[in-house]
Amino acid sequence: MRRILPGERLLIATHNSGKAREIGALLSPYIGSFTTSAELGLAEPEETGDTFVANALIKARQAARESGLVALADDSGLSVTSLGGEPGIYSARWGGPKKDFVLAMQKVHEALGDQTDRSACFICVLALAWPDGEAYTFEGRIDGQIVWPARGDKGFGYDPIFVANGHSRTFAEIEPAEKQTISHRARAFEKLMNALAAA
Ligand code: IMP
Repeated sequence: MRRILPGERLLIATHNSGKAREIGALLSPYIGSFTTSAELGLAEPEETGDTFVANALIKARQAARESGLVALADDSGLSVTSLGGEPGIYSARWGGPKKDFVLAMQKVHEALGDQTDRSACFICVLALAWPDGEAYTFEGRIDGQIVWPARGDKGFGYDPIFVANGHSRTFAEIEPAEKQTISHRARAFEKLMNALAAA
């Protein structure tokens, strides 16, 4: 993979301050300084791709081109087997304009009906892009089951209805630190960090 030069500033291509903080903390052993799309006043691109990879690349490449910096973006979501992979790249949009995830979880539950296959996975794709368009992607995934009713209040999004395989508590019932060690995002980051360390 192309190297990030010592002292080079990295752009975390997100307007979500929580996401930026979490990503910054994970990258700090490898990257000296970073900024975010929100800090630079960059526009949020439209996610017009039809895969997680395509949308992560759209976000990272646009941010790199506009800022002149190496940019890191992520795209993630829940993919339910019996729903043909939905909500997938539309995971955020299933919550409607108010990003109401109680509603989104209800929709998953209703769409599943009495299907016996409750398997699902969370997917996270990270894209690292340079201003000239060169880019790399890293995918992390965690498999599990959809449960109902929703349980727990620690996580976000679809966490209250997702139990990772080998676990009994939902992602919203386990401690955030424990989720960070097994989640799709943690797995994608591990791949990215290995590539940075080897570059
Ligand atoms: P994005 O910000 O466009 O990538 O949207 C990702 C959406 O997927 C979020 O709004 C959540 O609904 C869902 N999602 C992604 N990762 C997680 C997770 O770790 N827990 C619960 N929901 C998640």
